[in-house]
Amino acid sequence: MLAGLGFRQFQTSKIRTSIFVHTSRTVSGNPHCHSASDLEALVLGQYRNGKFRHLLHAAISDPSFLLAACRNLSPDETPLSSDSIARVIALEDLSLDLRSGRFDVESSCVKIFPSRKKGSSLVLPKLDLKIVIEAVRMVLEIIYEKRFATFAYGGRPKMGRHTALRYLRSSVENPNWWFRVVLRKQVLDICRLKTVLAEKIDDDELIGVIERLFASEAVVVELGGLDLGRGLPQESSLNAILVNIYFHGLDLELQGIRAQIHCGNPRFRGLEKAEDSQIFHKPIRVYALRYLDEVLIATSGSKLLTIDIKTSILKYVENKMGLKVDKLNTSIHSAVYENISFLGMEIQAVSPIVFHPPLSEKAMRAKKKHLKQVEAKASELKNARETRRKKLGLKILKHVFKKLKRAGEVKIDFHAEGEIGEVFRTWAEEVVAEYLKSKEECLHWHRLLTSSEFLSLKGIREQLPESLIDAYDQFQEKLDKYFMPGRTSKQLDENEMKEKDEERRYAKRTVQDLTELCIRVNAPVELVRRAVKLAGFTNSMGRPRPIKLLMCLDDSDIIKWYAGIGRRWLDFYCCCRNFRMVKTVVSYHLRFSCLLTLAEKHESTKKQAIRHYSKDLKVIDENGVEEIHFATEKEIRMMGDRNLADPSPVDGAISMTLVRFAVNDNLSFCLVHFCESTDTILYRVRLLQNRLNVDPSNEEKWVPGMAAIHEALNRKCLPLCEKHATDLFLGKICLQDLDCTSSLNVD
Ligand SMILES: [Zn+2]
Repeated sequence: MLAGLGFRQFQTSKIRTSIFVHTSRTVSGNPHCHSASDLEALVLGQYRNGKFRHLLHAAISDPSFLLAACRNLSPDETPLSSDSIARVIALEDLSLDLRSGRFDVESSCVKIFPSRKKGSSLVLPKLDLKIVIEAVRMVLEIIYEKRFATFAYGGRPKMGRHTALRYLRSSVENPNWWFRVVLRKQVLDICRLKTVLAEKIDDDELIGVIERLFASEAVVVELGGLDLGRGLPQESSLNAILVNIYFHGLDLELQGIRAQIHCGNPRFRGLEKAEDSQIFHKPIRVYALRYLDEVLIATSGSKLLTIDIKTSILKYVENKMGLKVDKLNTSIHSAVYENISFLGMEIQAVSPIVFHPPLSEKAMRAKKKHLKQVEAKASELKNARETRRKKLGLKILKHVFKKLKRAGEVKIDFHAEGEIGEVFRTWAEEVVAEYLKSKEECLHWHRLLTSSEFLSLKGIREQLPESLIDAYDQFQEKLDKYFMPGRTSKQLDENEMKEKDEERRYAKRTVQDLTELCIRVNAPVELVRRAVKLAGFTNSMGRPRPIKLLMCLDDSDIIKWYAGIGRRWLDFYCCCRNFRMVKTVVSYHLRFSCLLTLAEKHESTKKQAIRHYSKDLKVIDENGVEEIHFATEKEIRMMGDRNLADPSPVDGAISMTLVRFAVNDNLSFCLVHFCESTDTILYRVRLLQNRLNVDPSNEEKWVPGMAAIHEALNRKCLPLCEKHATDLFLGKICLQDLDCTSSLNVD
């Protein structure tokens, strides 16, 4: 059974041994590590006469540059020491090979053959070539990153899917029409790419290396497909930046179109700022958003204008970029009446009322009832306090009265007059303040006390003593001061103000609901359900079911696999309006499918499984420590739109299961880049499409929009250390972080 294993193992370990011998020579000359700004300076220093020159010679082949590339390739958070890199690869030699032009791209590629006879094979770069590819990417990033448009997302630091959708939701106002530029499946044309690169880079050696990467198929950029930005092994780290560079011309074109239209429709800042402005000023806007090869253009103008924009963009894409466009899917849609699929989400323009729906009759009744209850409770408390005060006051008076009657004077050791006086004073003040709050009472007293009008008659005033008149006038002044409703009932004014404010807000909101549109981003629930069914989590009725293939795995591996898929979905769709639906799929369908798998594995009932693992799917690890990998129900309930990092799609995790081998293989290295562990476990990759015998390009049988790992990796065996196996299961690393060229064929 393990016929192939021994040989392959020998081979991999032999490569490693030779490296060991190698490095003992070079360890003394370890390259110095440089900071990011040093590397940037190194590249920018090559800028002469409008172009970057000698990049391969001066930057990429520099050992410190290669060292930084190695660090980027390692998925572990702790930075690699140069010694541990030196134990795996001799950077000095790689640097010399690159400089002398001896570095052979082709011989650093490995062709992986599929398990099926008819299947297609996959070319993957070995570790040394991966380092070179990463170094090239770093150079390109330093040159181009600052030039990219603000609406170009994907493959850029801090410019991922969530940021793109955030821009869509917060900045796009009142879109009427929109369209996507959908490309047919095609491979990026290297000749045109070379011309684009030559605009900034004058380095034949570097361009030659990139050309050889394409020729050897170590780098394949497929546009219009599903492989970009999903962390699948068939995509190299160079793909995203090459696509961004290639599409930069289109970005500039879009910027030009936008500027031209915005120039003709200027925004009058003053009009919008005025809070209660009755004027609806809505200049025509054009919005563009690009995520790698997905382009969305929205306008708040007429359909004719949108058609014009589309025509000029398609002309550019077809003629200048030489790309084939899928005309049928590039049609213009109404933003309001249809939803459009973009970045794997369903987006639609909706009235703001969708985001703050009015309260239903029932909810309003409940709210009123609640307010009444609160009021009743408050008055009850007030009454109780007054009763207590009355009782206490009476008691004190009674006591004092008794003492006076008995001895003619009050004799106590403790002099409490001051305190008691203070208490009575505050009570009195509170009562008066409470009394003055009532508008009707004040008005009543004001009317009563100001009714003696005869004192204001001139004839009478002259006959009365002056001091009386003064006292009367002063009294009237005080009356006005304390009892005039206008001044006394501040509280009332506040209430009125609040009501008016509410009214104004309501009016404004109603106008907004009628005149404005904002963007709603939804998760494609139908597709998620289809994926759940395809992967076997649910039966034809949509109920959770066990997955038989997983039963040969350890309990903790089963749970980790489910947890990895669940966490990725929660991560990916956290910014969606209907995130709750995804939460249900993870919290119910995935959780119970996992419990049922565990139950069937141990030949027990679902109840027993729940009792043993609890609903949080707890497992005890080898050291007796309790571990929870699956998101708990409470955790899922609390999740919201807080994630800003670019989420990796679930595609790679859901379409692959790792089946553990019965034999432990303690001779091979862990396949994760630069992992030095030999304490490994063998896992066999089982791909969903091979298991189901479905072609992923068949949209009827597969889930539309879901990518699949290249079939050449089906049934390949991966030696992984325990930590990295967990990371791969949980989706913290992907197959791109593994050196799949050293995967084993085991029968
Ligand atoms: Zn490892």
